Amino acid sequence: MYTIGIDVGGTNLKAGLVDGAGTLTAAEKMPLKWVSPEKFAEDLTGLALALVEKNGIERAQVGAIGMGFPGQVDAKRGSVVRTVNIPIRDLPIAGLIQEKWDVPVYLGNDADCAALGEYQNFAAQGMESLVLVTLGTGIGTGLILNGKIIRGVNGCGGEGGHMVIVKDGVPCTCGRRGCWERYASASGLIRMTREMMAEHRDSVMWTIASGDLEQVGGRTAFEAAKRGDEAGKQVVELYIGYLAEGLTNLINLLQPDVVCIGGGVSNEDDAYLLRPLRERVARLRFDQMSDCHTLIAKARLGNDAGMIGAALLSEA
Ligand SMILES: [Zn+2]
Repeated sequence: MYTIGIDVGGTNLKAGLVDGAGTLTAAEKMPLKWVSPEKFAEDLTGLALALVEKNGIERAQVGAIGMGFPGQVDAKRGSVVRTVNIPIRDLPIAGLIQEKWDVPVYLGNDADCAALGEYQNFAAQGMESLVLVTLGTGIGTGLILNGKIIRGVNGCGGEGGHMVIVKDGVPCTCGRRGCWERYASASGLIRMTREMMAEHRDSVMWTIASGDLEQVGGRTAFEAAKRGDEAGKQVVELYIGYLAEGLTNLINLLQPDVVCIGGGVSNEDDAYLLRPLRERVARLRFDQMSDCHTLIAKARLGNDAGMIGAALLSEA
């Protein structure tokens, strides 16, 4: 039997065919154009059907459909409460899909789905709990404890990016100040890079960014640090410091088997990101006396994690 995992992004719908062993065997995608709930359900079903037909699978071989949404989901009612970027409010999507395709439909938050996808690899090694931290525009976190997603009472659980790590710090989209994601996301890194550049006109970061602050990216400071630039090294150290504070909060709270770091920033060389991060967390964490510690690892599935995890929702 197969399961279809659908990843609803801000701009695209992606559907993956996942076999009984949890392996992604094929995928399809289409642009997301929001017209109405009915059209949306039609598009989702159409994409899933196209996936099945193109790969020579019978509809009867699909046992379930799982879907991940960028927002708040009421998994029990099969409804999407609200999403960012798409004007969805209280949409009973599971029922709408089932009118067209009578299989169980499972819903999840996209960060939770990605965590579930990554968890599958580590569960095979006997691990039971995982936190996925995705460093992007914000910080998405998904928590899997004892094989179950921590959804919270209302589907808003596991928002690690909005832990305050600097009281009265930088304003956040959530209304508070000093949230972790304002400092340790890719956007936080870019802001700190620009601030450091403004203070150091001789930094090689200006050359890397072609003299234009708009050209600064998540790699600018790392690239400068690799070239021996002092200001670049300072940004990287500052950034890893903020990343480590939030990670240590999560580790102290949950002591999971593994914390996975994903998102574009996680592709940096281990010598510049993962290794110093592990060293920093090792000094900060509460469990100094223990000889068993949370593993800090790189996420492995990249952009496929959401689809694979959505297909695994029935088990979590
Ligand atoms: Zn916040």
